[in-house]
Amino acid sequence: MTNDLIEKSKKHLWLPFTQMKDYDENPLMIESGNGIKVKDINGKEYYDGFSSVWLNVHGHRKKELDDAITNQLGKIAHSTLLGMTNVPATELAEKLVEISPEQLTRVFYSDSGAEAMEIALKMAFQYWQNRGKSNKQKFVSMRNGYHGDTIGAVSIGSIDLFHHVYGPLMFKGFKAPIPYVYRSNSSDPAVCRDECLHILEQLFVEHHHEIAALSIESMVQGAAGMIVMPDGFLAGVRKLCTKYDVLMIVDEVATGFGRTGRMFACEHENVQPDLMAAGKGITGGYLPIAVTLTTEEIYEAFYDDYQTLKTFFHGHSYTGNQLGCAVAMENLRLFDSEKIVGDVARKSNDLHAMLRDLQSLAHVGDIRQLGFMCGIELVQSKETKAPFPAHKRVGYQVSLKMRELGMLTRPLGDVIVFMPPLVSSKKELKEMVAIMKEAIDLCTSEVSSAVEH
Ligand SMILES: *Cc1c(COP(=O)(O)O)cnc(C)c1O
Repeated sequence: MTNDLIEKSKKHLWLPFTQMKDYDENPLMIESGNGIKVKDINGKEYYDGFSSVWLNVHGHRKKELDDAITNQLGKIAHSTLLGMTNVPATELAEKLVEISPEQLTRVFYSDSGAEAMEIALKMAFQYWQNRGKSNKQKFVSMRNGYHGDTIGAVSIGSIDLFHHVYGPLMFKGFKAPIPYVYRSNSSDPAVCRDECLHILEQLFVEHHHEIAALSIESMVQGAAGMIVMPDGFLAGVRKLCTKYDVLMIVDEVATGFGRTGRMFACEHENVQPDLMAAGKGITGGYLPIAVTLTTEEIYEAFYDDYQTLKTFFHGHSYTGNQLGCAVAMENLRLFDSEKIVGDVARKSNDLHAMLRDLQSLAHVGDIRQLGFMCGIELVQSKETKAPFPAHKRVGYQVSLKMRELGMLTRPLGDVIVFMPPLVSSKKELKEMVAIMKEAIDLCTSEVSSAVEH
C-alpha cells in the first residue's frame, strides 16, 4: 500500500521547486502531523524544522484552528468577494488593520504571497496613472530579492538561479544593492548600510520622476539565504522613498505574523509602508490566504464614478475565502491569548545562544538570525569564506541527513534554513539544533575530505 502510493507519486506528480530526479531518488510522503512534528506514510516522525516552508505557527492539528474551520463549514465554505463581501473576510480585515502599521487601513485579499505582491505592484502602478502622473511607471527592487513565482513577482525578484531563464519575459526595472555584511568589503554593518543607501539615493536623484515604487523584503531577505539587514537600513530606505516621492512596498510574506519576534518585521524600525504584502503565517499555516494592505491615500485614488475607469480590475476566484478567513481570525485570536509574539522574542534569545554552539564547526561560516528566522551559511573555508563547489550540493546533503535524523528543512544553496513553528518550546528547539549540528558536522567533514583528496 505504502510503496504503491510512492509509485503513484512518482508517476503522476510534478512538485514545486523540485528536480523530480531528486524526488525519485529520495521520495517522502507526509500523512499526518501533530504539534511541531509531521509523520510520513511509514510512520517515521520528523520535526517540522522549516514550518512546512515558513508557514506554521501553532503546530499541526491545533484544536482551535481545526474547530474554526469546522464551525465555518457549518455556515458556508465559499462565496465571492467580487462586488460583495462575507462575514469572516470583513472581521479579519478589521483585525488586520488593527495590528498592522498605523497608516495601513485597507485590505485586499488573494491566495498566495506572489499574488499579494502582484497586487501591490499593480496598485502602485495604477495609483500614479489614476493621479495623472503617467510617467511614473518603473519599479526599483533589491538585488537577491524574492517575492514569489508569478511573472510580475519574478520581474522584481533577482535570484539568478530561479529567475535567469525567464529574463526575456520580465519587465525591466532598476535593481538596488542590499547590504550583505558577511560577503561585503567592509565587515562594519553601518558602512555596508550607508554605501547601499547612497547608491539608492543616486538612483532616485536621477530617476524618481519615472519610478512608481520600490519593493523590499522586510528586515530579512529570506530566499536569498536569510540575509538580515543591518540596523537602520529599512528605515533609511523609507526615508529616501518619502523624500523622492516613491511608494514603498514592503514584503512581509515570510517575516509577518510574529516570525521575527514582532507582529510585522518593519516594526523593528518603525517603518510605515505604503503597501504591505503578507501571507504564509496569516492562517497559522492552514489555508491559502494572502493580503495586500494599503493606505487611505492610495485607496482614494481609485475611488470615483465608474465612468472614470479608476477601478482596480483585479481579483481571483477564491479571493476572501470564508474558510481561510475564519481560520486566520482564530489564528490571530490565538496570537493574543497565547501571547505568541512576545514569546518568540523571548525564546529567540535562547535560540541565539543555542546557535552559537554551531559556530565551532569547521564549515559554519555565518549564522544569521532574526527571531525564529535563521540561516546557517556553510563554507569550504572559514578563513577565506570560499564556498563549497556547487556540484557537491552540500546544503542538500545536509538536509537529507537531517531527514534521516528526524527533522525536515529545505536549504537555500549552502545556507541551512531553520524556521521552526513559533510555538516550539525551548526543549524542542534544543533537540532540533542538535540534529542540525550533527548533520552539518557529518556531511561537511565528508565533503571537505573528499574535496581535498
Ligand atoms: C514565500 C514568499 C513569497 C511568495 O509567497 P507564495 O505564497 O509562495 O506565493 C513572497 N515573498 C516572500 C518574502 C516570501 O518568502
